[in-house]
Amino acid sequence: MSYCASRFHTVRRRTVEVKVGPVGVGGANPIRVQSMTTSDTQDVAATVKQSIALAEAGCEIVRITAPNVTAAKCLRDIRAQFTAAGFGRIPLVADIHFLPSAAMEAVEHVEKVRVNPGNYADKKKFAVKEYSDADYDRELQRLHDSFSPLVKRAKQLGRSLRIGTNHGSLSDRIMNRYGDTPLGMVESALEFLRIARSHGYHDIILSMKASNPKVMIQAYRLLVDRMAREDMHYPLHLGVTEAGDGEDGRIKSAIGIGSLLLDGLGDTIRVSLTEDSVYEIPVAQAIAAKAMSLWADGRARPLGAPDEADGPVPGMMDDERKAGELAAGDHSSSGIRHLELPLSDTIDPYHFERRATSTLRLSDRCIVGPEQPPRVIVRAPSPAALPETAAQLASPKLKDTPAEGLLVPVNTVGDLAALCEFLAVGGVPSPRENDAPPGEGTRPTNHLHLPVDFLALELAPALTPDLLQPLLAAAKGRMMLARRFAAGEEPLFEAFVLMVRRHGQFLAADIDPRHFAPYESVLRRLGDEALVFTLSALTPQALPAHATGAYRQLLEHLKAAGSKAPVWIRNTATTAVSGDNSFLSKLLEASFLTGGLLCDGVGDLLSIETEADPARATRLAYNVLQGSGARISKTEFVACPSCGRTLFDLQTTTQRIRAQTGHLKGVKIAIMGCIVNGPGEMADADFGYVGGAPGKINLYVGKNCVQYNIPQAEADARLIALIREHGKWVDPEPVPA
Ligand code: SF4
Repeated sequence: MSYCASRFHTVRRRTVEVKVGPVGVGGANPIRVQSMTTSDTQDVAATVKQSIALAEAGCEIVRITAPNVTAAKCLRDIRAQFTAAGFGRIPLVADIHFLPSAAMEAVEHVEKVRVNPGNYADKKKFAVKEYSDADYDRELQRLHDSFSPLVKRAKQLGRSLRIGTNHGSLSDRIMNRYGDTPLGMVESALEFLRIARSHGYHDIILSMKASNPKVMIQAYRLLVDRMAREDMHYPLHLGVTEAGDGEDGRIKSAIGIGSLLLDGLGDTIRVSLTEDSVYEIPVAQAIAAKAMSLWADGRARPLGAPDEADGPVPGMMDDERKAGELAAGDHSSSGIRHLELPLSDTIDPYHFERRATSTLRLSDRCIVGPEQPPRVIVRAPSPAALPETAAQLASPKLKDTPAEGLLVPVNTVGDLAALCEFLAVGGVPSPRENDAPPGEGTRPTNHLHLPVDFLALELAPALTPDLLQPLLAAAKGRMMLARRFAAGEEPLFEAFVLMVRRHGQFLAADIDPRHFAPYESVLRRLGDEALVFTLSALTPQALPAHATGAYRQLLEHLKAAGSKAPVWIRNTATTAVSGDNSFLSKLLEASFLTGGLLCDGVGDLLSIETEADPARATRLAYNVLQGSGARISKTEFVACPSCGRTLFDLQTTTQRIRAQTGHLKGVKIAIMGCIVNGPGEMADADFGYVGGAPGKINLYVGKNCVQYNIPQAEADARLIALIREHGKWVDPEPVPA
């Protein structure tokens, strides 16, 4: 795979080290956590105060917007006061859009300047033009002339630059030639990168941000691939833009950032939340810590790869070699180990395509298959806990996000007997036919009402087909048996497959990919019917491994066996990267594993078993599905994190609009702080609420501004009227008592 050394283990991508002031990024440095102030930059005291708060929270690099030359001039005082307060070690970064003049001022005062290649020196936006090759070359020359002075000055002063592409704000030139695509994003950055390199300047960090994690992941992968082809090894700044707030914002960020970090990409990260920016820091730190724990022995390379142990990356330009040598300490030790990679991963990582699967009808309402959304399974702790779990899942609050399957561990013959008793001797009622009145919950009798479509039984090895026959023979509803098969248990696997098929039931086979090869021939012979594959545990290995890599290996085995069996993504304590029991950790783990696989088109069922509360586990599963765009169950909010340009209080406005429109399933609403970047960055939102001027809001339908400068007090009502006008409004249902 040309964008990373391994998709099965985390092998950190080797980059040159770029110094942002005293802070090294890339090379052998840890992942650097950064964030941004939201104050008006011209309010120097407020900006210094926010910078200090961020630094005290653990932020290692602080970014400040510089929307014009006046604001850029304020960076001098901000830098001086921040240093005087004892934070000289924390570099500052100026965030520049549109104005080369502001960049030229800012570079004098701060350690790094971020430019957006979509709008640096490009004033016109959204113009549809035809560019001939000659026109295009003229544009590139204009760009060269505009960007070169900044590059030269940064080189003189020893400053670094970030070429920060945003999916939503590509130039007309790029849009015309490449469209609104990951390739367009990459080309946009490469145009600037080539200019910088033409001046022998290499202190560059790149980013490819988008509000859609799928787009963002593909763009970063493609960028690395393209850079590698041109022997470029610059560090990456990772982030998902306009991720929003709360659980959703954290999930979206973790899906995008986490997926890339597992593949060894990423040197500095920012989690953008529409919250006070200090809240971004612990989330970013937790993500970085998980990724870095996989580096513990991760100075590894695939077997057969050229030996890079004794020097910088081959093919680097001289200046890069120098930078590479700075970083080489951690790469040149005998710690480099060889990875055994039995398989190559055969997916196309640059284009999304959902994996083709066979169809399984788990109930009349719950079908798993290519046209179906991924289905949500929730775990009950034991058969004895079924009544309580069922009661919690019957909550009317889960009406639009129901658990569809219930997983029950069955460890002993006693458990099996208890289950039979609860289910009236094997009778798993078809639940939706017997729906209790709302609020009544379940009846803990020997004919248990289950508010799910099917039951999954996680079987201990001692439970043989003979013991299970009576249950399956008497079952009235759908069941999926889930069992882990060890090396050499192919005959038992076959017995289980034949048994479930005889009874019209299903088998979720859990097979360690390292032992899968002998199962391939059995699978080829038996076919897919009634089969799902899953992994409930990650077997300890010589090198740190992650569950995403194990699922990828499983998928390769399925492909080799010609199998289209659906895949169930299980988030368990043993598939997690680290065992922290906090809810944030569980959320990040679920986003890494499930979100990352869903963004690669993999996953037909999912369960988040690390969260014990069934209702919370259900909601988290739906939120991960929403964040990865795999199943939309509520309004999608795209909200910018706010910065010194923001024209209204983003946090309270987002919360207010969410309270009024959060029931509009499938509608995407962007809430953006300014018209400078907002319209460009709200990407594919259906409606936009954008700060037009102080106290004034512009409303958008798609990318078109349809109402200008509305007084903010009227804007919510006008937005709702606009949603109605476009046929996307439904009245909210009364909140259950
Ligand atoms: S859209 Fe939001 S974060 Fe972006 S520049 Fe405008 S106010 Fe700042």
